[in-house]
Amino acid sequence: MIQLGEGAWQIPVMPRQSLNCYLLGDVLVDAGVKRSAPKLLRALRGKAVSGHALTHVHADHQGSTAELCRALNLSLMCHPAEREAAETGYVVGSLSNPASFMARIQQRFMAGAGYSVARTLIEGDRVGGFEVIETPGHTKGHISFWRASDGVLIAGDAAMGMNLFTTAPRLGLPMGIATWNMDAARASIRKLAALRPKRVAFGHGPAVSGDAFAEFAVQLN
Ligand SMILES: [Zn+2]
Repeated sequence: MIQLGEGAWQIPVMPRQSLNCYLLGDVLVDAGVKRSAPKLLRALRGKAVSGHALTHVHADHQGSTAELCRALNLSLMCHPAEREAAETGYVVGSLSNPASFMARIQQRFMAGAGYSVARTLIEGDRVGGFEVIETPGHTKGHISFWRASDGVLIAGDAAMGMNLFTTAPRLGLPMGIATWNMDAARASIRKLAALRPKRVAFGHGPAVSGDAFAEFAVQLN
């Protein structure tokens, strides 16, 4: 685990930090793909964890959600717009082509079962000592987690920290084929940059400094 701040940890579940989960206080944020469960359970062993929040309900973030919630008795939280996908486990409905080969692979091999949502999260709610920021774009109900006291921001997939094909660290927009509304995604990145974070962490790729993120947001058009 990589410490981002007081009680805030990054849990990489794939090599080169290409897929990350987070532990914020006693809340697990995101849960990798279906086969990430053993790694997550090992990382969380001995830690007090009571809740599990999802930045958004795609197969690479919800894959081990049901298994972790059952194993650790966690209450599940997500934005209201993501609730149906979280509860049914049908996670490719928001992709531009849910019937594509890639979407079917994701649904079949990466996604996990649905699990009932105990609490929905909207802008301003507090989770694990962080504030919920609505960052729609990649999905309709995508959320990020922000702590003003030390400037730590968990952006999720609001932006990419890595080129997923080469795994080279690089800031970028969320992947086009998997993104609901790219204009909204750009607006959400600007919204996050306006918070003036000191450290920004992602679902994919290593965390970056606030300066690097600000530069990236400025050159978006
Ligand atoms: Zn992702």
